[in-house]
Amino acid sequence: MTDYIERDELVSYFKEIATETLRDGSVQCVLGAGVIAHMIVEIKEFPAADVRPVVRGKWYWDNYKYDWTCYACGWPVDYHNPKDPWGKPEYSYCPNCGAEMVTDCNKLEEDEG
Ligand SMILES: [Zn+2]
Repeated sequence: MTDYIERDELVSYFKEIATETLRDGSVQCVLGAGVIAHMIVEIKEFPAADVRPVVRGKWYWDNYKYDWTCYACGWPVDYHNPKDPWGKPEYSYCPNCGAEMVTDCNKLEEDEG
């Protein structure tokens, strides 16, 4: 599995290391900080992966639209399950915006910060 990281967070992390390294003041530490500074330049110039952030949502019943609606984009799904015409859609993703529908509402609240 491929891991993706936040470029700005990695740069901040290396800047902190460089700052700590420079506090020592020795020639070796100054050289080490120079290497870290070069790594920061390389990280900033490295091509980004073609990914997009995960958007999570849930289906909720909208009394105004009178339909199940995507929490993430507000799209009324207009889907009716033949077995349960008023039941919640069975889509695990919103067909309109691609939001992943979560069944665990705590997970959705965690993403909202
Ligand atoms: Zn949506």
